[in-house]
Amino acid sequence: MGDSKQKTKGANASKSMEKIVSLCKRRGFVFPGSEIYGGFGNSYTYGPLGAELKKNIKDLWWKTFVQNREDMVGIDGDIILHPRTWEASGHVGGFNDQMVDCKNCKARLRADHLVEEAIQMDCEGKSDEEVTEIIRGNSIKCPKCGSTDLTEVRKFNLMFSTQMAKTGENSTAYLRPETAQAIFLEFKNVVDSTRLKLPFGIGQIGKAFRNEITPGNFIFRRLEFEQMEIEYFIRPENWEEIFENWFSEMKKWCADIGLNPANFHEYEHPTEKLSHYSKRTIDIEYDFPFGRKELYGLAYRTDFDLSQHEKFSRKNLHIHDDATGQKILPHVIEPTFGLDRTILAVLCEGFCEETLEDGSTRAVLKLVPALAPVKIAVFPLMKKDGLPEKSREIMEKLRIFGNIEYDQSGAIGKRYRRHDEIGTPVCITVDYDTLDENSADFESVTIRDRDTMQQERVKIADLVSVLAERYFGGC
Ligand SMILES: [Zn+2]
Repeated sequence: MGDSKQKTKGANASKSMEKIVSLCKRRGFVFPGSEIYGGFGNSYTYGPLGAELKKNIKDLWWKTFVQNREDMVGIDGDIILHPRTWEASGHVGGFNDQMVDCKNCKARLRADHLVEEAIQMDCEGKSDEEVTEIIRGNSIKCPKCGSTDLTEVRKFNLMFSTQMAKTGENSTAYLRPETAQAIFLEFKNVVDSTRLKLPFGIGQIGKAFRNEITPGNFIFRRLEFEQMEIEYFIRPENWEEIFENWFSEMKKWCADIGLNPANFHEYEHPTEKLSHYSKRTIDIEYDFPFGRKELYGLAYRTDFDLSQHEKFSRKNLHIHDDATGQKILPHVIEPTFGLDRTILAVLCEGFCEETLEDGSTRAVLKLVPALAPVKIAVFPLMKKDGLPEKSREIMEKLRIFGNIEYDQSGAIGKRYRRHDEIGTPVCITVDYDTLDENSADFESVTIRDRDTMQQERVKIADLVSVLAERYFGGC
């Protein structure tokens, strides 16, 4: 939803998605889901390194926006909520895509994408009848088979529905299409169980589901995805200032995860295209190799959500505002971060192919240390003569930094390449001098930097402080 129509070529345009996807599979970041059954929809599995990367992003987000702020708390709500939730939020009635089917090849197509690609026209706000007219009037063809024998445009609700086993007048429930609503449902419980005063926010990380007709671009648009969302509750008077503050926080986050400011951009939604309840919406877009696309969103949603839930639940959700002594229904500013898109952005940003002095090339993933799936790799020069034992001893000392890997197979150069490709910031080699009492390098190791490839001798006794200072934020 809401991707801008710009087709700007960014700095990542020269990077090959094919190579990134292939690296992801080969090294265990992202596998195509259900592959042994021939794949399924656009499902994916985060492999061993992808699961680490994903967890590192979530942990950093939670720390940044929930734990390190006095005005924020977190919740963890269910995927299946009371079905009335989605009537109140407008998703049952209005969360639709327009689609057409090709009668010849049976392809199901997004009507707006079809028109956009064929005649560069924007269908936003047009009725099913109007879009049908546009498709027929311009003899727009099925992009799969070229036939013009297309059905009329119909609406297709994007929520996944499911049946509850318990009997009742209506057993249909929905998998949440966004994480935000659980925050509104529990708003009163959070206020009553904490000492939060306006303005304050509630954050949540979790899965959401959208029955997209045309998912695509690898993990960019998925049926099942994860969001990191905040609902920030405010008095309406100074919303502009709080909105600006959140926008700065979001840009700071982009820099913290290693995105180059030249690659992310601000897209202000034109006023006439905003939802009736929204006063302002800005997207942060990122230059993916396949084009400039929405990464994050920031919206001022007024008191729409809480007032809708008051109406549908018939519960009073007003809270006491200490500043005025009045009962107030707070307004909301909503920063939303797509987690899968964040993973894709940091992979695209970090992926490089470099030509070295000897003419050979190396693939390297320049991830910030906080996100790297493997923080440090430890190598014994040879797999004998006490070098493995010494390496494992050093490795244990470094576990405070997170996931550490031991690697003893192949030439050292090959081991470096393996770790460059998965983004390990630093490698440590234990050699014969490390063990040799008569050597000037006794009780020291070689550390090698991923990005500069510089090597340096460091005393084992100084290793923790040197690595902490250079790579891991002085922890
Ligand atoms: Zn067709």
